[in-house]
Amino acid sequence: MIPVWAQVTYLGAAACFVLALKGLSSPKTARAGNLLGAGAALVAMVVTFIVYELDNLALIVAAIAVGCLIGVPVARRVAMTAMPQLVALFNGVGGGAAGLVAYLEMSSAPTVFPLAAAVATVAVGSIAFSGSVVTFLKLQELMTTRPVTPPAGPALFAISLAVTVALGAALYADDGAGVWLGALLGAVGLIVGILFVLPVGGADVPIVISLLNAFTGLAVAASGYVIGNALLLIGGTLVGASGTILTRLMAQAMGRSVVSILFGAFKGGSTAGGGAASARPVRSAGPDDVAIMLAYARRVIVVPGYGLAVAQAQHTIRELVDLLEKRGVEVGYAIHPVAGRMPGHMNVLLAEANVPYEQLLEMDTANGQLRTADVALVVGANDVVNPAARTSPGSPIYGMPILDADHAGAIVFLKRSMRPGFAGIENELLFDPKTTLLFGDAKASLTALVTALKSL
Ligand code: NDP
Repeated sequence: MIPVWAQVTYLGAAACFVLALKGLSSPKTARAGNLLGAGAALVAMVVTFIVYELDNLALIVAAIAVGCLIGVPVARRVAMTAMPQLVALFNGVGGGAAGLVAYLEMSSAPTVFPLAAAVATVAVGSIAFSGSVVTFLKLQELMTTRPVTPPAGPALFAISLAVTVALGAALYADDGAGVWLGALLGAVGLIVGILFVLPVGGADVPIVISLLNAFTGLAVAASGYVIGNALLLIGGTLVGASGTILTRLMAQAMGRSVVSILFGAFKGGSTAGGGAASARPVRSAGPDDVAIMLAYARRVIVVPGYGLAVAQAQHTIRELVDLLEKRGVEVGYAIHPVAGRMPGHMNVLLAEANVPYEQLLEMDTANGQLRTADVALVVGANDVVNPAARTSPGSPIYGMPILDADHAGAIVFLKRSMRPGFAGIENELLFDPKTTLLFGDAKASLTALVTALKSL
């Protein structure tokens, strides 16, 4: 039994985790929420060191040191665009760690329920680990981002899932003594994780990260139960629940069901990824012409996307918007929930440039304003303004809610080429008579627009 003061501290940390999640729900409070959660986790860790008589203390400290030496510089240096794959990797490590803890506790699990929880943790933890590694490889483009459907994939998946359940039952019957059975369970879990993520492609990958995150949460919660640590149980449950909610919300934002995302590729339904540049003619213009269009507009709605993050042009777009506002133009940023490569990507990016929160318009508000906007300025975005989502039932993004840039009086795209976006499909809006393209890196184009505006 751990002392009361430690239990109270754990309870306080659990409350901080809840408050941290609340803080993360708004850009204004996200930073404070993040710090609160991290601080509470640190305090809980220190308490654990004080109250438990830990074996192998030197090894634990060495492992923490190695983890910090790798994790801290990687997290500090990671490019904003590579954040999702980093999250995938960190998430996988968490799931794997929970699985390993449960594996080690398996043979000493005293009663039925802890043993069942240990068995489930090994399975779910290893699925979360290998699944996350595959998502990392996909997002880092170390393997194809397209759906991979191995021959007899569904059968293979079903068989390995059945073997996982059978091994779990065998372990359970064996009272958890079969250490090799546990290892086999972990190994089959790894295969299930790989088969689970391989068929998911293109734009659906982030949803899978969120789902695997929920798996990791559940694995951690179960491992908390196994080792009798209430804080792990609470923290894991929070991650499991929030990951599940986020998965549903993201699926809704993409207009798809979670089942079609996971298994759609076997029916040819998962988004493709990749795609070649179109050779069809478009109307393009130079920065001077576009600057005039913007300067004499009444309302301009900026639609930021992945390309803005790639170009690191958040400060330059803010400068442009400030200049337009000085001229009396009404400007807002239309934020699509899955613009970029991770949930909230655009909010984080624009917050870096201290864009006032009031200027960030959620999708419904933005769509209302786009109807009366003179110009939709699409900066490095593509899929999130592709009208095929509304009009082409055969399109992989059909049904995904989009920003109605096509409803604006005129549309200006800032992009480098005619290559498609993440979903790998052509965007008819690029060929619309109302559309003008300003080719080039977003930062260079925006800088040229700022210069042109200043000279008007
Ligand atoms: P897209 O990937 O659809 O389009 C990005 C556009 O930016 C491309 O047209 C590209 O064209 C352009 N671009 C890239 N680099 C630059 C640059 N340096 N300067 C100027 N333009 C550039 O992005 P969206 O934000 O519109 O949509 C996000 C997509 O990603 C959706 O399909 C979404 O589902 C998916 N996704 C979302 C995640 C999330 O959680 N937010 C995670 C993973 C995927 P060009 O190459 O010609 O410059």
